[in-house]
Amino acid sequence: MLKQLLLTGMLCIPAAVWAFIKPVRVVAPELSGISCINDTLCTDDVSRYQEAAKLYDEALHFVDLSVGLIENKPRVIFCNSDACFQSFGLGKRSGATIGIFGIVISPRAWKPYYVRHEMIHHLQNEKLGMIKAWSAPKWFMEGMAYSLSEDPRPKLADPFEQYRSQFEDWYKLVGKEQLWIEAHGL
Ligand SMILES: [Zn+2]
Repeated sequence: MLKQLLLTGMLCIPAAVWAFIKPVRVVAPELSGISCINDTLCTDDVSRYQEAAKLYDEALHFVDLSVGLIENKPRVIFCNSDACFQSFGLGKRSGATIGIFGIVISPRAWKPYYVRHEMIHHLQNEKLGMIKAWSAPKWFMEGMAYSLSEDPRPKLADPFEQYRSQFEDWYKLVGKEQLWIEAHGL
């Protein structure tokens, strides 16, 4: 199933995306010495497996209920070490979602709202398709992830604070029912 998905995905992804070869390792994290407990949960520290599984389940449930139904459960790689996170070439971010292939969580992002944030990006990629998600306005993509993950930080660093309030103004007008229909037109 994953291989089929990958092949289909490869045909649809713009060539530029493949320039970022390291993030594509999410499809085969075992090659970076990471253990996958099942199809959807991987970590470099199996002693924290239960904590990771709890974060995963809580985030999935939360996003399904309050944002939208995720069609294919994402693979999430929980990195306990910086070396693990850096093996995906993701720089200083706290987490990253690579299309619909997987999510990587950094050592500092083992928190419910960070995992929900990345799962919202996964849902956006599913609902909008990779190309639309790639070109959608940042205030929508990031503002939605910060807002609907219920990130508890009262003030985010710029420009994310502005993205969040712009999204919240838009969402008040649009509502949950029309969210994806309206998002396609952005
Ligand atoms: Zn984000």
